[in-house]
Amino acid sequence: MKKYKRIIIKIGTSVLTSGSPQLDRPKMINIVSECAKLHQEGVEIIIVSSGAVAVGKHRLNFPKLPSTVASKQLFAAVGQSRLMQVWEQLFEIYGLQVGQILLTRGDIEGRSRYLHARETLNALLNQRVIPIVNENDAVATEEIKLGDNDNLSAMVTMLADADLLILLTDQPGLFTADPTKNPDAKLIEEVNSINEIANIDLSSSKSGLGTGGMITKLKAADYARRSGADVVIAAGAAPNVITRVYQKEMLGTRFPAISTPLERRKRWILTRASSGKLFIDGGAERALTQNGRSLLPAGISHLTGNFVRGETISILNKNEEELARGIVRYGSEDMKKIMGMQSDKIAETLGYFYGTVAVHRNDLILLG
Ligand code: GLU
Repeated sequence: MKKYKRIIIKIGTSVLTSGSPQLDRPKMINIVSECAKLHQEGVEIIIVSSGAVAVGKHRLNFPKLPSTVASKQLFAAVGQSRLMQVWEQLFEIYGLQVGQILLTRGDIEGRSRYLHARETLNALLNQRVIPIVNENDAVATEEIKLGDNDNLSAMVTMLADADLLILLTDQPGLFTADPTKNPDAKLIEEVNSINEIANIDLSSSKSGLGTGGMITKLKAADYARRSGADVVIAAGAAPNVITRVYQKEMLGTRFPAISTPLERRKRWILTRASSGKLFIDGGAERALTQNGRSLLPAGISHLTGNFVRGETISILNKNEEELARGIVRYGSEDMKKIMGMQSDKIAETLGYFYGTVAVHRNDLILLG
């Protein structure tokens, strides 16, 4: 059986605190000791740790502050350094070094910053240091936030080319219905396509402490498996959970990696927020999904959003299902003028020409 080489462990606030108002150190020691054993076997480990805001609140003794972004950032600033201090102390017991990486969306959206972040992660791993990643909550504004650490961990999986992402949470995995309300709810052991589970109602699955819920986890799992990583959602409270998932024991909900993962540059496209939507007709849908073709302006029926050439957009079919994500060759103002038009008319319509396609197939990722 093929062994994992590089794994990302995402630990939610509810796992780090076991649902209490403060860090659960014994729980953290268990996590650290499991990591230390795997590390000794040569496995490379990256931790995505939440908990900054919760720790900050606890350190400051839960002051009554207005519920503004600034208050949350203040908690994160206090909590993040404390959180790192605790991780550092615990890993030191095993003679291991950790390194803090704080990211925002801006650090991954630009191609050169993305590559830079990747190099930093690789440099740490080459020195056998364990990177501990969180969102840079203290300074990130709403526009540049990734928002939740599920999403962040998927980005890190892509960045680091990891082959396993473990999402540790306060639930044993994904269920067919809400297990607190429905006694017949069953754990789903394996998901091979997000469409398989499209009819499960996940709206009540938000965890009480962290930011994400099952919906953000599924989205993260879907991204990460496209870059070639197996993803497992499992209970942080299960004994030896990391080692058991690493050993491929059937635990939690598993999303096997897709067998032909996206090439590296395409993964980066997936990390970028979408700035607009192109709605395409049936002919263009077939050209993209069945024949692996580029999207031509002729196949676009309408669009929404303001975007410039080089930005990432979503491509949707008539039923408004997102089919693909890609980088546009024309901005929205130009695209409005040339959509529905044959490509040989582009130059005379716009007075310039960036090529015959709206989105080139090399810049396009199918999401089906
Ligand atoms: N970055 C946040 C924190 O450390 C957590 C976000 C999340 O729960 O997903 O407090």
